[in-house]
Amino acid sequence: MNGSKDYYKTLGVDKKASEKEIKDAYRRLARKYHPDANPGDKGSEEKFKEVSEAYEVLSNPEKRKQYDSGGMFAGAGGPGPGFGPFDFGAAGGRPGSRSYTYSGDLGDLGDLGDLFNLFGGGGGVGGGRRRQTPKGRDLQTDVNISFDEALSGITVPLTIRGKSACPTCKGSGAKAGTLPKTCTTCGGRGSVSQNQGPFAFSRPCPACGGRGTVIEDPCETCRGSGAVEMPRNIKVKIPAGIKNGGKVRFPGKGEAGPLGGAPGDLYVNVHVKPHEFFKRKDSNILLDLPVTFPEAALGTTVEVPTINGRVKLKIPAGTTDGRKFKLKGKGAPKPKGKGHGDMIVTARVVVPKKMTGKEKELVKKLQELEKEDPRAFLSE
Ligand SMILES: [Zn+2]
Ligand SMILES: [Zn+2]
Repeated sequence: MNGSKDYYKTLGVDKKASEKEIKDAYRRLARKYHPDANPGDKGSEEKFKEVSEAYEVLSNPEKRKQYDSGGMFAGAGGPGPGFGPFDFGAAGGRPGSRSYTYSGDLGDLGDLGDLFNLFGGGGGVGGGRRRQTPKGRDLQTDVNISFDEALSGITVPLTIRGKSACPTCKGSGAKAGTLPKTCTTCGGRGSVSQNQGPFAFSRPCPACGGRGTVIEDPCETCRGSGAVEMPRNIKVKIPAGIKNGGKVRFPGKGEAGPLGGAPGDLYVNVHVKPHEFFKRKDSNILLDLPVTFPEAALGTTVEVPTINGRVKLKIPAGTTDGRKFKLKGKGAPKPKGKGHGDMIVTARVVVPKKMTGKEKELVKKLQELEKEDPRAFLSE
């Protein structure tokens, strides 16, 4: 007999209760005490465990017979002190205890904490009720936006293909009106012990995949997986100032997690179409500005386009090709609202491809007048 527990009393049923009466009583109580319905309530959690334990035995004709006759029974997870399927005490008590046992020489163990973490941690630390619910898959998608949209930021509608939480069971995987049942292999802990040389390590329970619960009556829509393949229409906000090739992460917008697990993330790869004449370098915007030889030689003021309207730019006399002018704050928005970059204007002195006879004449005159040899530094 498992201690002095009275499973009939726990479920509030008669010793001669039918299978249906036991099942009904369990469902009623499990719903009442389910941890999801009573978050953080230790008393309910304990009650839920007791009820599940009682049901596990009384719902199985063979175990019930054994129990009624006062005998011991071996559970599905196999024997082993402290790790049997009905050892609920180990789950709640001993805060800080680690879920391995050691039967060798303590001297050569090294750092048990690190060793333990190598195996995925999970079950044992701090009372052992931390379950490992798998996360949904991360998804990736691409968007194409214009140069201007990248500067201003834009909200883009997307159709996401992948698993979504099942609308019928809201992702629980359980048929309407039923609840996932506490896993009998791990007793709801989500982890089981496994012997590895001198110690026993905790690993995710293979029966429930680490969730601590199993589904008895699966939802028909998703066949108990809690997720269905279904396109989703969402809108994502691409931040102002994004660069070509930038990647934006949207947490929780990936695939639905299996059986109510957290959803994965969505990564959006942003492709920015090139602009007709602006270029980007980080937060700076670059512009090549053609100027004629007379403009460069004599100086002038020209109008140049910026991303927020046209501005006047003074080209000083004697400007050479490649000279750069900085227009402060006229660049792209910097990440996280840290102001704007600059606009860098590069003067490009252009030469006319065709000239009239009159123009040629004047240029020749200029050549005759010119005394400075620009290649003087190249001669010996
Ligand atoms: Zn479902
Ligand atoms: Zn389990």
